[in-house]
Amino acid sequence: MTDTPPLLTVRDLTVKYDAVVALDAISLGIRQGESVALIGANGAGKSTLLRTISGLIRPASGDISYNGQSIRQSSPQAILRGGIAHCPEGRRLFGALTVEENLRLGACTRDDAAAVRRDVERVEEMFPIIAERRKQAAGTLSGGEQQMVALARAMMSSPRLLMLDEPSLGVAPLVTKLIFAQLAEMKRSGTTILLVEQNVKLALALSDRAYVLRTGRIALEGEAHALADDPRVFHAYLGVNE
Ligand code: ATP
Repeated sequence: MTDTPPLLTVRDLTVKYDAVVALDAISLGIRQGESVALIGANGAGKSTLLRTISGLIRPASGDISYNGQSIRQSSPQAILRGGIAHCPEGRRLFGALTVEENLRLGACTRDDAAAVRRDVERVEEMFPIIAERRKQAAGTLSGGEQQMVALARAMMSSPRLLMLDEPSLGVAPLVTKLIFAQLAEMKRSGTTILLVEQNVKLALALSDRAYVLRTGRIALEGEAHALADDPRVFHAYLGVNE
């Protein structure tokens, strides 16, 4: 896999919220078909990185290229259409809309109706609860059910790169297990995954490689299996000085 050119390259990326430097000249790359975890303590900058890649935040400096093209100036819609989907922290479903309507919104950049119908069937097979709750307002679902719908909605854009922000947050262990089993299946079928996850063990088990962020900088990077046994990961995660 080391010979494969990166699908996504982040170069010297700096992102600020007024005076707060959330990301400080970070660089990383993700190859086609790879699963990469981003781990780090609260406030390390993980969500900011996903939001910047999605085009929701403009960087102060640096570049992001996807499939060989800079997307730094691209709109969120263009980035989604290009194949990058973002399943945000806190799910952000449209609570008053039905589960089905939320799924359809996930496919709003597509015009291949037959393939969209097939993808609805596919996500309903992955998560049968989605078919059961199809006509129900998304806001009435439990946290775990909403997380499944949020992941399904992200998949409805048929992404090449799927970014997930804390999919296990506020979700019961059994549902987390189901979600991670489906993510592993997607990885096997070739989807590239960038995962932000507070459960380090779970994140490293799914991933090929990982980056550890600490106050807006990359503190550590490497193969996931090596990092799983590296005590520095837990120090960085807990914000402990070495
Ligand atoms: P968490 O797991 O708590 O979401 P994170 O690693 O995703 O943490 P970010 O949410 O990206 O971290 O935050 C990075 C830094 O930017 C933090 O210092 C945070 O306080 C700050 N920050 C995030 N969003 C904003 C905002 N909208 N306005 C001002 N500062 C912000």
